[in-house]
Amino acid sequence: MTDTWVIVGASRGIGLEFVRQLLQNGHHVIAGVRNVSKADRLLELKSHCTTPERCIIEECDITNEESIQKFANRVGDAAKEGLKVKNIVLNAGILQYPNRATELSFPEFALHLHTNTIGPIICAQKLVNLDPESPPSKIVFISSDSGSTTLFRDDEDGFGAYGASKAALNQMLRHMAAELTRRGGKWSDTCVLAMHPGEVQTDMANIDLGWEVKGSIQPDESVTGMLKVIEEKDETGSFWCWDGRLQYD
Ligand code: NDP
Repeated sequence: MTDTWVIVGASRGIGLEFVRQLLQNGHHVIAGVRNVSKADRLLELKSHCTTPERCIIEECDITNEESIQKFANRVGDAAKEGLKVKNIVLNAGILQYPNRATELSFPEFALHLHTNTIGPIICAQKLVNLDPESPPSKIVFISSDSGSTTLFRDDEDGFGAYGASKAALNQMLRHMAAELTRRGGKWSDTCVLAMHPGEVQTDMANIDLGWEVKGSIQPDESVTGMLKVIEEKDETGSFWCWDGRLQYD
């Protein structure tokens, strides 16, 4: 069956791999990127599509509310043209390493919160409210085990603002899950999930941490695992690892 997915933060890394696998599996994708003209690898994927609506690419700067609103409007227009959105993946994220609590500046902290917490939540809010008659099936936030309070490791140096921004994301998405359930009706069928993609070899992970990262994986393995989890899990507000293990928070 062909579904329409929205992937936000699709220019490279895990987001780009989501688009690649979804297109390969026969789905339609509406991809949100910060700068369309710089999304070379995504534009290359689109160039192989047989019809333009298989892969729609639109600007969505997750730190800019006007850009998010325009993107949501475009998704709404696509739905009216027949591309009703089934699943939404909020993947865009930033890690400016290191971001220690004892050192970071106000703007550095704010950038992590804007990109990793506020933008994804506001974007999901605008998308979920587009059509009360047909809310999405799944809203998936790409979080991180760095945002888990129970998995906190005091030797994981340099991840203060990043971890805090993902912890706040986890809390807000649970509120979103509970609020949609309380709305009742069709809204209560929408399932909100948080996912840890694993330690994935992307640009974000290409930093000298000063310690060995064990068990890191490629984007294709991470995304194949996450797509399976997204298909199978339906407990709204829950937090999963890419390989199907429940992440306690
Ligand atoms: P990359 O750095 O490779 O990619 C980040 C993506 O986010 C890019 O497409 C980037 O777009 C986009 N992005 C950043 N800022 C914005 C913005 N303001 N507006 C729109 N898009 C933006 O990282 P990954 O692919 O590794 O990370 C994807 C997600 O997975 C992130 O949320 C990250 O926190 C999470 N994660 C990753 C882990 C890993 O090991 N890689 C581990 C745990 C979580 P642009 O090209 O314009 O910069």
